[in-house]
Amino acid sequence: MSLSIVIVGSGPSGFYAADALLRKLPGCRIDIVDRLPTPYGLVRSGVAPDHQSTKAVQRVFERTATRPNVRFLGHVNVGDDVTFGELKECYDAVVVAIGCPIDRKLGIPGEELRGVYGSWSFVGWYNGHPGHRDLDPELTGSAIAVIGNGNVAIDCVRVLAKTPAEMAKSDLCRHAAETIARAPIEMLYLIGRRGPVQIGFTPIELAELGQLEHCVPLLDGEALDRDIAAANPEEVTQKAKPLDILRSFAGNRLGDKPVSLRFIFWAAPTAIIGAGHAQRLRLERTRLADGQAGHTGDHFELSVSTVITAIGYIGAPFDGLPVDEKRGIVRNEEGRVEPGVYVVGWSKRGPSGTIPTNRADAMAVADLIMADFKTGPTGKLGPEAIDRILTARAVRPVGFAEWIRINEAEMKRAADGRPREKFTRISDLLAACRD
Ligand code: NAP
Repeated sequence: MSLSIVIVGSGPSGFYAADALLRKLPGCRIDIVDRLPTPYGLVRSGVAPDHQSTKAVQRVFERTATRPNVRFLGHVNVGDDVTFGELKECYDAVVVAIGCPIDRKLGIPGEELRGVYGSWSFVGWYNGHPGHRDLDPELTGSAIAVIGNGNVAIDCVRVLAKTPAEMAKSDLCRHAAETIARAPIEMLYLIGRRGPVQIGFTPIELAELGQLEHCVPLLDGEALDRDIAAANPEEVTQKAKPLDILRSFAGNRLGDKPVSLRFIFWAAPTAIIGAGHAQRLRLERTRLADGQAGHTGDHFELSVSTVITAIGYIGAPFDGLPVDEKRGIVRNEEGRVEPGVYVVGWSKRGPSGTIPTNRADAMAVADLIMADFKTGPTGKLGPEAIDRILTARAVRPVGFAEWIRINEAEMKRAADGRPREKFTRISDLLAACRD
């Protein structure tokens, strides 16, 4: 059967969905729409620039994108260039794979001060996402706090701590590399509102912090042992590897390297203080209460002029889609929003899991679509109708062949040893594929 399917979002969840659909419904026609002229979503603008091996998955996605019945329609903004309703009229099925592109807020006073950044925009900035290119974070003080004990917090800390030489084979964008190299950082605080046994860090990412050329991880070894002794043994067993890595940091000393990375556990931010600009971070010491960070009433402050929050993300409101406000995702039942409309990836389950986690969602959505369209296509207008709508609105999508030109131009302009120097503005991306 020749179903027509549009996937909104060309990140890992979108591409894995396309791949699963092609396996299960080989005759289907798939359009993958993205508001950026570039595909791959978080693989390009989320994965850390020094984690090039993680980005190798692009080659798998490239094979999917170049299948004869697949089109990439880049630089098409759903809600602006074409409405969600129009997509529903034109395609048998719409698969939403737009992720969770908004920083979760701490909800404390001072969050609006200059010098306070969410990791979505900070990571987007150093990765050259056109929407965050001009963030221009102020990294002018000697101490920076990164809040959150997940892998995104580790990415932020590591990118700030690495020397230019350590980043030489990365695709860290030039504007960010220059700002970070100039930053007079001496102290990085990595702050968790719960304890070491509750961390979200994975072992490989945590171990990397022990191998930095100029930065030494510091923590209180006795406090770590007390926390482990007081914790649920099952949880300790589950976290055995990262806890061993943390323990290996306990022998490090302040001054071992020019930059220190201090782990602070059991501390929940309560205010960011400063006159126009962040100057101090106020925290409350916490203790575990029903598994969550509970109050103690005991406060302390850190002098920091930059605060980066890496505390998770929520979904963007999307015209015509029901939102689960509490979880910040599209309201869905096992991936089905309504017959003909589906969600995958972070849009479906929230911001958790690594790139391959999306494979299971992809297979599940393909099964749902097969079940919902047992009797075949539903007589929608077809992708040609979308082409007519876009042409009438003078919207010219960036096709996959054009992306290949951008890709080649980025690789060509990279300095020796670097995989690419990204174009970070829409106008430059379009010029690279069309001039
Ligand atoms: P995460 O792992 O869920 O970590 C979020 C952290 O923010 C948690 O420590 C959480 O603490 C903390 N937090 C939430 N609200 C807070 C608040 N109000 N105050 C203080 N702390 C708060 O999320 P993530 O780091 O954004 O990563 C998202 C997903 O991408 C994860 O699955 C991650 O593993 C994955 N990822 C993987 C890689 C990699 O494999 N290299 C790299 C980046 C991201 P609680 O635990 O107390 O809630």
